[in-house]
Amino acid sequence: MLQYRSLKKKLEESGGSNCVAKQEPTCGVECGNATQAEDIKEGKTLVTSPAITVNEFKLIRSGEDSPENGGKTYFVQEIQRRLPRIEKKHNVFTDDFKIPVKPDVADLTFRLPDCKSDRHTLVLDLDETLVHSSLEIQKQYDRLLHVEMDGNLFDVYVKFRPYLFQFLQEVSKLYEIIVFTSSIESYADKLLDILDPEKCIFHHRIFRDACIQHGRYFIKNLDVLNRDLSRTIIVDDSPRSYFYHKSNGIHIKGYFGDSPSDNELEKLVPLLRHLLSAKDVRLEISTKLDSD
Ligand SMILES: [Mg+2]
Repeated sequence: MLQYRSLKKKLEESGGSNCVAKQEPTCGVECGNATQAEDIKEGKTLVTSPAITVNEFKLIRSGEDSPENGGKTYFVQEIQRRLPRIEKKHNVFTDDFKIPVKPDVADLTFRLPDCKSDRHTLVLDLDETLVHSSLEIQKQYDRLLHVEMDGNLFDVYVKFRPYLFQFLQEVSKLYEIIVFTSSIESYADKLLDILDPEKCIFHHRIFRDACIQHGRYFIKNLDVLNRDLSRTIIVDDSPRSYFYHKSNGIHIKGYFGDSPSDNELEKLVPLLRHLLSAKDVRLEISTKLDSD
């Protein structure tokens, strides 16, 4: 995580106008007016076994667990593991993340052209979903990219997630594939050329400048895809990035290059096959989320 943040920071610092999102949030809503989840009640129970309320959850996350709130630090690892699902399910964010208002479709300055195939659409995040990249020197890596950003050249060490190429082969037979990344184009496009040298897997590549930047977060508004969202799925390690379209999102555990036995991509394939038969993938995904 540290490395990724370092990468992001360096990319942002070095990027100047080319790297920072060109499109300011079209909503124009500041944090104070944002629609932060309204259903958060401090006494609301997030998980039942053990019973942990929103307030306790926040305390545990902030490292302030104590006997006064039941001494539930014991469960912190379990809660950490489930954090993305909990955030997604309950709209609970323990830091400063607030949700900007989603722009109207009519106000979008960028939209993909109409879909030419009758396939469902699978939107894939890049960093920590398909690969892990770092600006720090790595002993083990799969590719070393030389990425120019705002006149500076950076070495980017890339580690492919296990099963990556098999996964791409499998899903590209089933779906229209779109990569939607909050990373800058000069880095991501170079990497995607390596993942798809024949340009037969990714139908579209969408980069940071199509995201809505809100503070240090980049939100992926699926409306820019110009697709039928009842037939569109996004796979991302950050539920925040698809917050406008939670029912379209499948959360995948983040990959940080240090787990050779990682099989998250492999595990996804049966679910993605199953969703092809769903009349509305959002109902299937919501049902799955409710049962987690
Ligand atoms: Mg990611």
